[in-house]
Amino acid sequence: SACGRGGDTPASGSGGGSTGGAAAGGFAANSLIGIALPQKTSENWVLAESLFNDGLSGAGFQKDVQFANGGVGEQQNQIQAMITKGAKVIVVGAIDSKQLGTQLKAAKDAGITVIAYDRQLQSTDAVNYYIAYNNEKVGELQGQALLDGMKAKKANGPYNVELFAGSPDDPNAQVFFNGAMKILQPKISDGTLKVVSGQTSFNQVVTQGWKAENAQKRMDTLISANYQSGTKLDGVLSPNDTLARAILESCKQAGIGTPIVTGQDSEVESVKSIVAGGDYAQYSTINKDTTNLVKATIEMIQALQKGETPKTNATDDNGSKSVPTEYLEPVIVTKANAAEAYKGTSLEQYTK
Ligand code: BGC
Repeated sequence: SACGRGGDTPASGSGGGSTGGAAAGGFAANSLIGIALPQKTSENWVLAESLFNDGLSGAGFQKDVQFANGGVGEQQNQIQAMITKGAKVIVVGAIDSKQLGTQLKAAKDAGITVIAYDRQLQSTDAVNYYIAYNNEKVGELQGQALLDGMKAKKANGPYNVELFAGSPDDPNAQVFFNGAMKILQPKISDGTLKVVSGQTSFNQVVTQGWKAENAQKRMDTLISANYQSGTKLDGVLSPNDTLARAILESCKQAGIGTPIVTGQDSEVESVKSIVAGGDYAQYSTINKDTTNLVKATIEMIQALQKGETPKTNATDDNGSKSVPTEYLEPVIVTKANAAEAYKGTSLEQYTK
């Protein structure tokens, strides 16, 4: 994803008219905004729901904020309903963007601006903007944290590690893994890291549905096959906090000692564990403050409402087009910088 400015025109708002208040190319100030969220696979999504509800109301919009806990079919129906109700912008956090082609095309045909939120909408030209924390950077930070954490405990390798990735239907899972492997692959190649199970390809290490139980089951199997007879496990690459806690629970039940385990999302339980330290504590997480991401998304919508081009700082190739993208910067958090990283946020209380 190179830098550069996308020159996409905002939606040709057909609204306006009787309600008034629409600038040229924009739409009425009290228009309906649709927010299609995926399943509640981590705290950030749950938080996004209330932040979008409050933020859109505060900005004077009507809103339709939906979760698709029932899966892809439910998300397809929700997006279709937003189109029918006349939404001017639809923000999508997809469960599986490859299965939203029909609905996204219908949105485009209706002149609706589509914003991909957190997860890119892949292989469609019916996406106008993408906004997310820089996901490749998230992966790089995780890979580096894994190395740093293990080195702090034992100055020299080789280190025994295992790798986990997220759900294969979520494009972020591959991006996080690629980012981490940019850092880890050279160390695997030079022998500093030893993946004892031999499972190093994305397909071997995925976690269907981002489900904790699936990560825990795989970790149980990895332990009984590779770490039962005294082989020490030094570290585990985990793509997020929910899976990190499941991996650590498996290690605890097997009584194999505490490996360095990475994470992401700054979930309350993980932040507490990182700050407390000790046996079976998580080592690191990533701060991708949902408040800031939702705020920046609403600013995009406000720009569109006024008929302006939203601010972007990058482009991301989704396989079909170069999508104007706004990337926010993720921050790595360990016990050492937790207080500083969460200063002024709702997580500050857990760092004392
Ligand atoms: C998000 C992560 C989250 C994961 C599971 C990803 O798309 O970027 O923050 O941990 O989904 O919900």
